[in-house]
Amino acid sequence: MTQGLRPRTLDVMSSTSPRADTAVDLVVVGAGIVGLAHAAEALDRGLRVVVLERDEHAVGASVRNFGHVCTTAQGGRALDLALVARQTWLDLGRKAGFEVTEAGTLVLARAEDEVAVLEELAAERGAEQVRLLDPAAAAERSGVDVPDLQRAAHLPLDLRVDPREAVPALARWLSEAGVGIRFGTHVGEIVPSGDEVLVRTGRGEVRARHVVHAVGHDVDRLFPSLAEEYAVRRCRLQMLEVAPPGDVRIAPALLTGLSMARYAGLAAMPSADAVAARFAADAPELLALDVNLMLTQRPDGSIVLGDTHHRAVTHDAFDEETDAALLLREGARLLGAPLTVRRRWRGVYASSSRTDFLVAAPHPLVRVVSVTSGIGMTTSFGLAPTVLDQLL
Ligand SMILES: Cc1cc2nc3c(=O)[nH]c(=O)nc-3n(C[C@H](O)[C@H](O)[C@H](O)COP(=O)(O)OP(=O)(O)OC[C@H]3O[C@@H](n4cnc5c(N)ncnc54)[C@H](O)[C@@H]3O)c2cc1C
Repeated sequence: MTQGLRPRTLDVMSSTSPRADTAVDLVVVGAGIVGLAHAAEALDRGLRVVVLERDEHAVGASVRNFGHVCTTAQGGRALDLALVARQTWLDLGRKAGFEVTEAGTLVLARAEDEVAVLEELAAERGAEQVRLLDPAAAAERSGVDVPDLQRAAHLPLDLRVDPREAVPALARWLSEAGVGIRFGTHVGEIVPSGDEVLVRTGRGEVRARHVVHAVGHDVDRLFPSLAEEYAVRRCRLQMLEVAPPGDVRIAPALLTGLSMARYAGLAAMPSADAVAARFAADAPELLALDVNLMLTQRPDGSIVLGDTHHRAVTHDAFDEETDAALLLREGARLLGAPLTVRRRWRGVYASSSRTDFLVAAPHPLVRVVSVTSGIGMTTSFGLAPTVLDQLL
């Protein structure tokens, strides 16, 4: 056997922690928001935690998204998790030193049926969660004079972070607090052995009492039968970063009528079906690409505009320009000005038709966790405590 193939023990703890010569309490695989949420929760419980991440820094869904903590538009369990997660975002923003903007979301209604959905949501949730605004008040709150706006709903509980700042800041803070974060460390095997688990990586192995495997859409790599059981697909999204028209400052996230069929809290309103039917009749090209027209603004003023959705286990390598063209057309209509693209990228998240949250126990000491509904930024900090309650 050559030197490179000999199994060895990975030096897993951070420089501020004692060196591990016994099993650590928890190994988390994946340093996206789901993995980091579990690491933060375990740290809070006083556990010795190691995070193993294959890349040199997180480049997955958790840094490619809108940074929209979309609380109020959720329904059912997702809403409960989102309400917990919201508070944790605020706490961690203070501790880890990244900005969490409490400007809420503005849901824009540009048709009668969309107004009806907002009125129904306001009646159901009350003024603490939903405030109806006329176009003038909406323009004042958003900074944008949206053409054809009939009404808007402000959802004040929603938050916004810049994921490209927040996710690395969180990893840094966890590392300084004693979590061993090992980047550039690909996990290839998870092997239960008595009352421990051996986590085998390209750089050696780590012994753990428990493992949380949180690798987003790559869940099917180590756990293909679980992914099949939950019908996990990769959902590919087209995203754009555009220059702001003029000096526009848009504090809240902006959602539109297309978001009303997407988020469970809005989709449950009686008039949501009429909205979907109208789009099917008047703009089938938007439904064909499963567009959710929405945007957030980054600290430098750039606007993150999205998104389209395509689901497959393996995607073609090449993106059609039609997706971006459609987003630009609709974005220009929304902001009342032509838009210039600064950056474009493809985001991917795990998607399941069977569950919004895949939490599985292939072994009593191991949990496989993936948010399979495109709302990991909104819910991970609520989900992690429930997973660890069960696992530990
Ligand atoms: C374009 C886009 C926009 C979105 N917008 C929002 C939004 O505004 N609000 C919201 O709530 N949600 C949003 N989402 C969803 C949200 O981003 C995801 O639910 C969430 O980021 C998933 O986090 P994750 O940690 O599971 O995955 P990821 O961020 O993909 O992290 C998984 C990590 O695991 C690592 N990994 C994989 N395999 C291994 C291995 N074998 N060994 C070691 N490491 C491994 C990867 O390198 C990666 O860093 C959006 C998603 C996309 C793609």
